[in-house]
Amino acid sequence: MNEFELIDRYFDRGGDQPGPAGVVLGIGDDCALLRPPRPGHLIAISSDMLVEGRHFFAGTEAAAIGHKTLAVNLSDLAAMGAAPMGFTLAVALPTIDPDWLGGFTRGLFALADRHGCPLVGGDTTRGPLCLSVTVFGDVPEATVLRRDGATAGDDLWVSGPLGAAAAAVAARTRGDHVDPAALERLDRPRPRLALGRALLGLAHAAIDLSDGLGGDLGHVLKASSRRGGEPLGAELSADAIPVDPVLAGMAADEALQLALHGGDDYELLFAAPLAARERIGGLVIEDGFGVAPPVRIGTIVRGGGIRLLAPGTAPRPVAGGFDHFAAD
Ligand code: ADP
Ligand code: MG
Repeated sequence: MNEFELIDRYFDRGGDQPGPAGVVLGIGDDCALLRPPRPGHLIAISSDMLVEGRHFFAGTEAAAIGHKTLAVNLSDLAAMGAAPMGFTLAVALPTIDPDWLGGFTRGLFALADRHGCPLVGGDTTRGPLCLSVTVFGDVPEATVLRRDGATAGDDLWVSGPLGAAAAAVAARTRGDHVDPAALERLDRPRPRLALGRALLGLAHAAIDLSDGLGGDLGHVLKASSRRGGEPLGAELSADAIPVDPVLAGMAADEALQLALHGGDDYELLFAAPLAARERIGGLVIEDGFGVAPPVRIGTIVRGGGIRLLAPGTAPRPVAGGFDHFAAD
């Protein structure tokens, strides 16, 4: 099979893809053609690359890799409140393995179709397994959720339970049995697209949790401090952090550390004014996966740093999250 047969067979589904009307021309020409969003809206663009051995374990189920390759990109759209328009896919494949490609595209297109995000182009080459998606979305300029909009006094919220994906990574790395529910969280993250859009006009700032709560909150604080011209920090209530039920068997502090510093959860972290508290607390959004409302975990405060508060103990500083270059 040559490159073009491979594209035809596995990636080009013709017009047969659910999605918005903005795709004028998809796979097959030199470029895809997308219609610009309506006036007052912007195009949101994000790329994420998944490399075998770094972002997923060798031997991970192909359908899970297909799902995750797109999910991490859709999660970036969710974090800004954008609606998917389409995506491109660049793949390097060591061999043409029909079983693997069949599984990969099944996982990929199931998620794409669920969110109406058609594959509009890409690139295909031979090489060590590497998958890169660029996703395009549509977002209203006036209310787009950026990282730099948090202000002192804002409530801090997360969209769901944390720490399960990191627990799966830790167990895999140790060679221990991996809890299937934890593995599901690691392999099939749930992009919170409907929630992100519901937060337009309610939240001041948002980010998706790819690197861990501590580190990603640090990004929000840094960007918002710079924009607002005064140092901002956060106080988190230890009791309020939604530790994933999968971690129930662990020592409480170990589980809390995974929830604070584990990556790959792809829940949303967002800051919102007090005036929005009641409405946000009542947001029960299906998002194709879960139905629990967001959880309020703390407050944005003046002065730098993140502090963890627990009854009867002194406040503890919380450090930053995962950095791909830190271990090298
Ligand atoms: P070009 O040489 O003009 O860059 P290619 O020969 O690389 O184009 O690709 C031919 C067509 O197939 C293009 O429309 C491209 O977007 C699409 N394509 C290539 N690889 C993929 C892929 N993995 N997924 C989706 N579309 C792809
Ligand atoms: Mg060309």
